[in-house]
Amino acid sequence: MRGTFDSTSALGNAMRQFDRAAGVLKLTPNQIAVIKQPRRVTEVKLPVQMDDGSVEIFTGYRVQHNVARGPAKGGVRFHPKVTLDEVKALAFWMTYKCAVVNIPMGGGKGGVAVDPRKLSTAELERLSRRYFAEMIDLFGGDRDIPAPDVNTGPQVMGWFMDTYSMHRQEFLPEVVTGKPPELGGSLGRETATADGVAICIREAARHLKIDLGGARVAIQGFGNVGSYTALNLYRDGARVVALSDDTGGYVYEEGIDIPRVMDYTRANRKLQGIETAMPELIPLEDPMEILEWDVEILVPAALENMITKENAEKIRARLIAEGANGPITTEADDILDERDVFIIPDILCNAGGVSVSYLEWVQNRMGYYWSLRRIQEDLDEIMTSAFRAVLHMSQQHHVNMRIAAFLLGIQRVTTAAEMRGLYA
Ligand code: NAD
Repeated sequence: MRGTFDSTSALGNAMRQFDRAAGVLKLTPNQIAVIKQPRRVTEVKLPVQMDDGSVEIFTGYRVQHNVARGPAKGGVRFHPKVTLDEVKALAFWMTYKCAVVNIPMGGGKGGVAVDPRKLSTAELERLSRRYFAEMIDLFGGDRDIPAPDVNTGPQVMGWFMDTYSMHRQEFLPEVVTGKPPELGGSLGRETATADGVAICIREAARHLKIDLGGARVAIQGFGNVGSYTALNLYRDGARVVALSDDTGGYVYEEGIDIPRVMDYTRANRKLQGIETAMPELIPLEDPMEILEWDVEILVPAALENMITKENAEKIRARLIAEGANGPITTEADDILDERDVFIIPDILCNAGGVSVSYLEWVQNRMGYYWSLRRIQEDLDEIMTSAFRAVLHMSQQHHVNMRIAAFLLGIQRVTTAAEMRGLYA
């Protein structure tokens, strides 16, 4: 596959993004020292018994980046390329994401270097429980609250919650969000990240005067974020003309029938081979081509560093909505900025997931559960006001949306850190 993705530089990109915003805000070295680096970094070795009786050792991480505004919050990723630096970058983004949408939480992230597709369900359960048990003292509804990320979903969250509750001998659903609704999960959490992406696209399209009806869209990644974003845009009348996942890329100029694609991926867990079920879809030799497709709106919803200085010049979209975390490198950001491409940055664009996670945590603590309608209304309110606050910041300081989002987030985190002071 053309276009290499290099997870080790995600942290470098994150640090450069911080430095740019800190420069605009003229933060002092002391302020920077307190909020830039992670506060707690944990690495563990996880022995897991495989179905054939052998034992495999996996490496797991949890990073708590900043907890000035509340308990650490952030997903756990299961992916073969997970590294400590990647988890640090993702935890850093969570701190500022929570601050941008103004929920009372800090930033955390976890990961295990594993290809879950190679594990049986029983092996995956043993690995998930071992991960949670190994770091049990880090977690808690007032300390650090994990959630789903790449390759982890409601079932893994259910195992996390059960492991914690069994150890503590109490029913403690608030230790993790993104659980199945039967275990205290919030209605609307599964689609929340994508719903937030769609709300941001709606607001950006209004600002840029792009008519969403019939607008051409390309989406990279067809997992939780990519597939529901595709469905939202399809329902809004946009024309999704290009799609990809890690097994293939497909185009159809008339507009892809997204509900049918979702039926296929639900049954097959990948896009590969879909042309047999939907012959109108044309497979691409190189799935990375969809990033350069002739569209108005591009949604990278896979992994970091997909848009780099190698392909940024060739991107034709006017609007990029970062469903994924860190999909654009800082060099590519500069190229796109010069070309006036409007980017909705990850720490705003995909914050719908953590926003509904927060609503789930609130419901767990009350033991009282809200309707889907109420959740969707609250999410719309949170995302719309965050989008408008970031846009306002960008106009006020004459900076792009990414720097504006960091300005807003960093101001809130700095204020909280200073008001708490240093406990000596
Ligand atoms: P997921 O595991 O459900 O889906 C990931 C998708 O990306 C899969 O379709 C996979 O095939 C695809 N992919 C991987 N490598 C690819 C490549 N090289 N080219 C094309 N596609 C590729 O994960 P997800 O939860 O949808 O997460 C996707 C992104 O969104 C990640 O960056 C994640 O951190 C971010 N995110 C997720 C949430 C959430 O609530 N799930 C919230 C905020 C941000």
